[in-house]
Amino acid sequence: MTATATRVLVLNSGSSSVKYQLIDMNDGTRLAVGLVERIGEQASRLAHTPLAAGGDKRETEGAIADHDAALKAVAAELAADGLGLDSPQLAAIGHRVVHGGLKFTEPTVIDDAVLKEIERLVPVAPLHNPANITGIRTAQAMRPDLPQVAVFDTAFHATMPEYAARYAIDVETADAHRIRRYGFHGTSHAYVSRKTAALLGKDPSEVNVIVLHLGNGASASAVAGGRCVDTSMGLTPLEGLVMGTRSGDIDPAVTFHLKRVAGMSTDEIDVLLNKKSGLIGLCGDNDMREIRRRIDEGDERARLAFDIYIHRLKKYIGAYSAVLGRVDAVAFTAGVGENAAPVREAAVAGLEEMGMAVDASLNAVRSDEPRLISPEYARVAVAVVPTDEELEIAQQTYALVNA
Ligand code: ADP
Repeated sequence: MTATATRVLVLNSGSSSVKYQLIDMNDGTRLAVGLVERIGEQASRLAHTPLAAGGDKRETEGAIADHDAALKAVAAELAADGLGLDSPQLAAIGHRVVHGGLKFTEPTVIDDAVLKEIERLVPVAPLHNPANITGIRTAQAMRPDLPQVAVFDTAFHATMPEYAARYAIDVETADAHRIRRYGFHGTSHAYVSRKTAALLGKDPSEVNVIVLHLGNGASASAVAGGRCVDTSMGLTPLEGLVMGTRSGDIDPAVTFHLKRVAGMSTDEIDVLLNKKSGLIGLCGDNDMREIRRRIDEGDERARLAFDIYIHRLKKYIGAYSAVLGRVDAVAFTAGVGENAAPVREAAVAGLEEMGMAVDASLNAVRSDEPRLISPEYARVAVAVVPTDEELEIAQQTYALVNA
């Protein structure tokens, strides 16, 4: 790395997609952002926006066979703007890796041993880690000389005490199969809890925050003095809140029942709970905008889906208030948390005795900035704090390669 190398490319490789951002670490400016979707299909799509060049979004459609081809196409787009991967200004590539198991609790420079260890975690993250690994290998092949850093979704939750991380099942069985609560969305929970402290004018070590990351996937975390002490996702991202397409918490006996009585296979149950449940299972829509529109038209199913979503959310706010003892702030983030004022209002409604309230006019404000939505009299600050997982990955990556 040269002294002038101040850019980080962040790659988020999914099973059929790659999201990327090229960020200048001098001031966090996005130089380019983009997305390759439907990799492996005939109608793959690449959308690239060269923000540095002030250019418009460029979209190309056509078959992109695999991640290797996808990354080459991305590299070509970047090169067309003078931001190619061969640039001496590129300091590192930061990869989002979903599962870091117990081993990876910090961002890590990737070498062969690290990659092997990430591969060893595939059985506990079969849907995510393989795509992350493919993205890493492809990027390594393109720039073997450049530091590549893995930033793990699970890492922030590694500070959870054993009594929060361990399921109450037979210890030998659990340990033999590495079954425990790992938690996910950690990059977001870390970023948002820190930003919330800053919004309150405090150091993260001084505040207790409940972070509600409500996107299509959703999770809550209890952060005490900057350290995660509990989170709602578990061995996999299926546990916890009601999500766009995932059930969240459920009696595990439902799965035995579906197998024994409904004759469903393990894979079918997996698909049911991960892809056909949550909001979409309850009412046929997983987009909160559409659900609100239907509620406004008097749609009962949409109303019930919303109520179930809110009820679960409220239960976690209550549970994490008890876990933390003293709550300084509740922070809403991600697509739903940042945009859906009715969700924020409903989740906090009736919690005045716990010191929580939402001011209707503050809650109605739309902004990309972190902001308070609680009235001045409220003991607990309720905040909207937009997440920025890419910037967090870039910052952790850059800090590590400059350490
Ligand atoms: P993920 O990263 O998990 O795919 P996001 O954090 O981008 O998801 O959140 C996507 C969700 O945010 C959408 O499914 C939708 O429910 C919700 N959302 C986005 N914009 C709005 C809005 N203006 N009002 C209400 N909900 C919104």
